[in-house]
Amino acid sequence: LASLLKDPSLLETRAYVNGAWVDGETTFKVTNPARGDVIAEVTDLSRDQIAEAIDAAHAAQKDWAAMTGKERAQLMRKWFDLMMENQDDLGTILTAEQGKPLAEAKGEIAYGAGFIEFFGEEAKRVYGETIPGHQRDKRITVMKQPIGVAASITPWNFPNAMITRKAAPALAAGCTFVCRPAQETPLSAIVMGVLAERAGIPAGVFNVVPSSSASEAGKEFCENPKVRKLTFTGSTEVGRILLRQAADQVMKCSMELGGNAPFIVFDDADLDEAVEGAIQCKFRNNGQTCVCANRIYVQSGVYDAFSEKLKAAVAKLKVGDGLEEGTDLGPLINQKAIDKVQEHIADAKAKGGDVVFGSEAHEEDGAFFGPCIVTGATQDMKFSKEETFGPLAPLFRFEDAEEVIEMANDTIFGLASYFYAKDLSRVYKVAEALEYGIVGVNTGIISTELAPFGGVKQSGLGREGSHHGIEEFLEMKYVCLSV
Ligand code: ADP
Repeated sequence: LASLLKDPSLLETRAYVNGAWVDGETTFKVTNPARGDVIAEVTDLSRDQIAEAIDAAHAAQKDWAAMTGKERAQLMRKWFDLMMENQDDLGTILTAEQGKPLAEAKGEIAYGAGFIEFFGEEAKRVYGETIPGHQRDKRITVMKQPIGVAASITPWNFPNAMITRKAAPALAAGCTFVCRPAQETPLSAIVMGVLAERAGIPAGVFNVVPSSSASEAGKEFCENPKVRKLTFTGSTEVGRILLRQAADQVMKCSMELGGNAPFIVFDDADLDEAVEGAIQCKFRNNGQTCVCANRIYVQSGVYDAFSEKLKAAVAKLKVGDGLEEGTDLGPLINQKAIDKVQEHIADAKAKGGDVVFGSEAHEEDGAFFGPCIVTGATQDMKFSKEETFGPLAPLFRFEDAEEVIEMANDTIFGLASYFYAKDLSRVYKVAEALEYGIVGVNTGIISTELAPFGGVKQSGLGREGSHHGIEEFLEMKYVCLSV
């Protein structure tokens, strides 16, 4: 992997704690999902070492918070610039450990860097408030102050951006940060430590603690009284565990959890645009995002036309090694991910669905699985309840808006949803009726650092991105002054 990089020193495998590069007693392996080969041995920190990183973050926090917003912004700007200068290398590292096509990986780096740029700018705009007093001699002031040390646990599907969209608002607010990356993709996190150091971000402000034991890291984050904020992206199942653990010290939590996104095509939709949106939304990262369409609902009158067009578009997608030119879909993260897709296909078949495209695993070393379309999908099939997290597109048929809204909302999840329609009154009514934190209308791509990303129901708590994102790392203080 180092030989593919313009700057091989970006490939770091140690932990970054208190501005120093630290080794644990052991290491764990990182593999390339496209080939199955080991690309790095990353240091594995013990729980005690994670506690040391928390101590360092705690010690660094007061000085970091004492800086002006503009000073923090300037350092974050350097961090952003370094990411963009090294975008190619960061993308290569990301593809090597995660699998997504290089162009998508570089896109993720730009997207991830966008959070650092945006929140650096927001550091200057942490406005308080004055409120007219309740008595003649009283003056009410509301201050915004950083919560303290923030700790993050993040998944492997966006090894860079899931970290920057937490670390950037945290640092901008004046919090310090301890990041435990997914064990599948630690290299993309560690390199952010390399760049933080180069940008001159003070020691202890941003720490990366690779650990093969997620549960140990999670316990330390929840039980250590120096941590005041936990920010997590991952499954609803693990989110629940962390919320329970965090309850003991009443820790503030942000949770970006699972989704089960409906993608609805009404009969007045532009079908070509709907197909393009479905391809982008369903097959981004080969279906492994929490905002990927999981259920595609198509109105009766356009069902056959839409499925034919979708089939034709899917047939053009090239599956392969993300580092090879022309690849549209990389491998899945591992065999377990393939098993889940196959389980959902088998379940759909058993309940009367038709596999009209794909479904064969590839005979290669990597965890490859190509796109697949199932027609005749129904609400009793597994993907109606669970996220497939892979390249399976089930097509459901519906008759009217009322029916499809009921089906779309019939889930414990409420992260992203999408629909294609032209009639303005329908657009408004459906956008209002969908019980989701995010609604894409006539678009399959909704992620940007400028907008508040997050879910309702069991998809999570809090929002990331936009001016709202920084609030997750701030406390309000009411000062009552008698004059
Ligand atoms: P995904 O399916 O996206 O991997 P998970 O919720 O399983 O979702 O994992 C998200 C992150 O949470 C990963 O970094 C994983 O290692 C971590 N994780 C898994 N189990 C726990 C746990 N019990 N406590 C803390 N973190 C966990």
